[in-house]
Amino acid sequence: MSSVHETHLLAEGITAAKAGQRAAARDFLTQVIALNARNELAWLWMSAIVDTPEQRRDCLVRVLLINPSNEAAQRGIAALEVQNKPAPPIHEPTPIVAIAAASSNLIQCPFCQSNTDSSKLDCQVCGENIILTCPSCDSTINLWETTRCPCGEGLRHYIFFPDGIDHEGLGQRYALMERWEPAARQWDRALKDGSHVVMLHRKLAQAYDKIGRNQEAEFHRQVAQS
Ligand SMILES: [Zn+2]
Ligand SMILES: [Zn+2]
Repeated sequence: MSSVHETHLLAEGITAAKAGQRAAARDFLTQVIALNARNELAWLWMSAIVDTPEQRRDCLVRVLLINPSNEAAQRGIAALEVQNKPAPPIHEPTPIVAIAAASSNLIQCPFCQSNTDSSKLDCQVCGENIILTCPSCDSTINLWETTRCPCGEGLRHYIFFPDGIDHEGLGQRYALMERWEPAARQWDRALKDGSHVVMLHRKLAQAYDKIGRNQEAEFHRQVAQS
């Protein structure tokens, strides 16, 4: 349900976007999303004013998660896919720098400095998370750009360059905000690092219970008890 305040901010954001005032529009729409991360129109308008195709895709995916039948978002994603059609196979070896320059989909991992695909959640070389969601407002945070969400939430206490992410602590932050899916993602990774194993199995059982993944919850409960 949208509040009067939310509706007002959305109207201001759309007016600014239509007038081409991107910074102002972004400011208003970010406030709307901070109030209500499921505001479909806010994400749709945000997709029109962000800087990169990747950000545009993130916004459109948000719209479709909220309303899978939103036709404007479906068309937008389809248009992005046409632009991003994979290039034909390369037979000559091509220096990685040239590939990076030719494709906006490659970014430098902030942890291992390798070139990796920016559309993936994790670095394909070192495996560390690159894309996270904000614990406060659920916006997408790209760690190669910032550790701070436009809503004000900062993640720098959990993220250490180039060492990696405190997955256990970050999972706890998501759990505190009742965001159990990203909490489970973080605790699963912490488990692979091998510390606090029993406690992590207990936490994972709780997180999977909350998101209805009962078999995984039961598995972790049993491991914690054994
Ligand atoms: Zn990496
Ligand atoms: Zn946020």
